[in-house]
Amino acid sequence: MTQTSFVPLHPQPVEEDPLELMDEIEQLKAEHDAVLLAHFYVNGEIQDIADFTGDSLKLARDAVTVTNSTIVFAGVHFMAESAKILNPAKRVLIPDLLAGCSLAESCPADKLAAYQAELRQAGHDFETVAYINTSAAVKSLCDWIVTSGNAREIIDRVPAGKEILFVPDQHLGRYLSEVTGRPMILWPGSCMVHEVFSVQDLLRAKRNNPGSVVLAHPECPKPILDVSDVVGGTERMRKYVASVSTPTIFLVATEANMIHPLSLAAPQHTYIPVPGIMASDGTTCACNKCPHMSRNTLRAVRDCLKTGQPEIQWQPYFDKAQAVLQKSLLQ
Ligand code: SF4
Repeated sequence: MTQTSFVPLHPQPVEEDPLELMDEIEQLKAEHDAVLLAHFYVNGEIQDIADFTGDSLKLARDAVTVTNSTIVFAGVHFMAESAKILNPAKRVLIPDLLAGCSLAESCPADKLAAYQAELRQAGHDFETVAYINTSAAVKSLCDWIVTSGNAREIIDRVPAGKEILFVPDQHLGRYLSEVTGRPMILWPGSCMVHEVFSVQDLLRAKRNNPGSVVLAHPECPKPILDVSDVVGGTERMRKYVASVSTPTIFLVATEANMIHPLSLAAPQHTYIPVPGIMASDGTTCACNKCPHMSRNTLRAVRDCLKTGQPEIQWQPYFDKAQAVLQKSLLQ
């Protein structure tokens, strides 16, 4: 009788020891003169071995200061693109090219260009302010780039007589319009993670945790912000919890990995991630985890250091995006 062997169609990757992967990454970084930047939304174990951690604004500025010849950007595609644009001479690697962003994808460059032309034809005199969560092609069509950390300051630089077209996040745009008093034409984009928080679950969590403080990212819809105590980007959240000495319960309405840097900055507190929408079977979804950020694994970081791929390549529209990024983030 002949024996047949079974070959699975999609073999599962062999489990690798995280500590060994971390050692290998350290070794490869030294061999390839590389530095690792990690966003607050990637897995805590990658943040722990990164040379720089932070929000988009801090990492973009950190990227400019590095002296190594290679930058590995554990984050999403638009962040690695920005690092390359601000540092054309460096080799910029991203652990997984498919780490995109639902918010950036909600505003394609061709649609934005068509809408800008339509507005001009209708007699609007405006400047376009883009959240950093946009592709470089979109940035090249804009006048200003903001992050949640510098948005107010940049919006103050838009001449008073000009209208503002804000892209791509409608929730952040509406919030900024409220706090700056500047009317805005809003692009109807949103982030898949921040859009799904449930007000009912948040109110229930508040009731179950008397005295708790709600921290919310301005990418959340207005009903969430209306019941929050502190609204700000991730760096502001980190600074805020560090400024509170009394042990406090914080309910955190942003990507769930943010709990890691908050706990490191202020371990005296308790952090509870705000759950997403409740399913009919009574469970909550795991939708406060960004599936794009989750593509950054220790294995992917190791592999990209080993192979030198994927690498962000300079594109013709990077020149225009560079001028806008430099005047917005570095001046
Ligand atoms: S959390 Fe939202 S905005 Fe941030 S990378 Fe993921 S999809 Fe984009």
